[in-house]
Formats: sequence, structure tokens, C-alpha cells
Amino acid sequence: MRILLIGPPGAGKGTQAVRLAAHLSIQHISTGDLFREHIERGTEFGHNAHTHIRAGLLAPDEVTIGVVKERLARPDTGRGFLLDGFPRNLAQAEALDGILADSKSRLDAVLDLEIPEAQVVRRIAGRRLCRQNREHIFHIHYSPPEVAGACDVCGGELYQRDDDRETTVRRRLEVYRSETAPVVDHYQAQGLVTTISALGQVQEVLDRALVAIG
Ligand code: ADP
Ligand code: ADP
Repeated sequence: MRILLIGPPGAGKGTQAVRLAAHLSIQHISTGDLFREHIERGTEFGHNAHTHIRAGLLAPDEVTIGVVKERLARPDTGRGFLLDGFPRNLAQAEALDGILADSKSRLDAVLDLEIPEAQVVRRIAGRRLCRQNREHIFHIHYSPPEVAGACDVCGGELYQRDDDRETTVRRRLEVYRSETAPVVDHYQAQGLVTTISALGQVQEVLDRALVAIG
């Protein structure tokens, strides 16, 4: 299956993507995680992307599309993939349509996570990620680790993303409204979108997502 997960920052895309990808045995591809790996490794690409990420803006399309194209070409995507955080504007959506057309494949579903902004602000403010594995996602109130500051799964140190601070979050929400929301319309025109509520327990949202993708 080839699935896109779209929703505002903090909606729970990463949290759901990890579970959906495991359930469906497909690859979870998060452009945000790919960027953070490059930043941590200190690559030139990571350094350039970091300037945009810190400011709450999108990284340039050319490099972002290049990274995704390279990742999708790897053989482990044979059973399918779940893209989390890409495409984030119309140019990226059109590029993805082209990549899929070239490989004679198509998307099966686009899941649009809907959530009020007040709630995403609360989710982002308490988000903590594991340094050893960014798919280990916590929240200081909603899914706290057993030992403060340490990952339950692997013991890694938990940290707060530097773009999860309040002023940057506001900018990211504006970018979502102006640049990413039109991507939902783009796929709506292709009849691929199901909108589900991202409110409630993680498992409840997962159940809705599984029903939506059939
Ligand atoms: P969130 O989980 O809060 O939605 P992500 O981890 O997906 O955030 O992305 C964090 C940041 O990485 C974005 O604010 C943006 O700067 C950059 N980024 C991630 N995906 C893309 C993309 N597809 N195009 C451009 N920039 C991106
Ligand atoms: P996104 O990838 O869309 O930015 P995340 O999956 O990183 O979102 O989730 C943002 C924060 O909200 C994390 O701290 C996560 O633990 C928390 N969270 C995710 N889903 C839920 C939920 N259903 N209820 C409460 N908190 C949630």
C-alpha cells in the first residue's frame, strides 16, 4: 500500500505512522526525521535544512524532493510506504505524482488528520523525542515515559525539538494553512482523501485510520 499522512504539526502523524507502517508491513518515511538525522550527523544538507527548520519554514523543494525520490527508489519500499510530512506544498505533490507515474504506481489513500489548533499547541508543547530513535515519541502529559527524560523502549535520552517552541510553532501552523492545506484539495480532486479526527486516545485514532484505508 502507498499512503500519505497529512495534518498540521503536532496532529499525531508520527505517532500514527509508526503504528500503521508496522501493522501494514510498509516503510515509514518521514521527511522531518530524515532532516533531523542529517542535522545530527552534521551533513551540509542538514546544515542548510536546519536554517529553514529552525525558522519554522519549509526546506527548499529541490533538496526535499531529491531526498524523497532517493528514498522511494530503495528496494525496501516494494511492499509500499507511508509518507509522513511529504508532500507539504503543491510543487511537492506534483513532483510526487511524477515520481509515481514514472514507476507506474499510484497512491492508495491519503489520510487527512483533523485537529483544532489549540490542541496541537498542547501536543507540541509537551512533545519529547528519543535521541536514539525518533520513532519513539512521548508527551510529558499524554504519554509520559516511566522515568522522566528517558525513553521507555531503549533508554535513550529524551529531548525537545528546537522548532517546538511557541513562536516557531505559530509560524509552522501558518505555513500549514497557506502551503500544505491546498495539498489536501489536490488529492481530493483525485478522490483519494479521507479526513479523520485526530482527537482521542492514540488507539482510537489508529482504529479510525485503519477503517479509513480499508
Ligand atoms: P511535524 O511533525 O511537527 O509536522 P516534521 O517533523 O514533519 O514536523 O517537520 C519539521 C520541519 O522539517 C518542518 O517544519 C520543515 O521545516 C521541515 N520539513 C519536513 N518535511 C518537509 C517537506 N516535505 N518540505 C519542506 N520542509 C519539510
Ligand atoms: P506530528 O508528527 O503530527 O507532528 P506527533 O506524532 O509527533 O505529531 O505527536 C505530537 C505530540 O502529541 C507527541 O508528544 C505525541 O506523544 C502526542 N500525541 C500523539 N497522538 C496523541 C493522541 N491521540 N493523544 C494525545 N497525545 C498525542
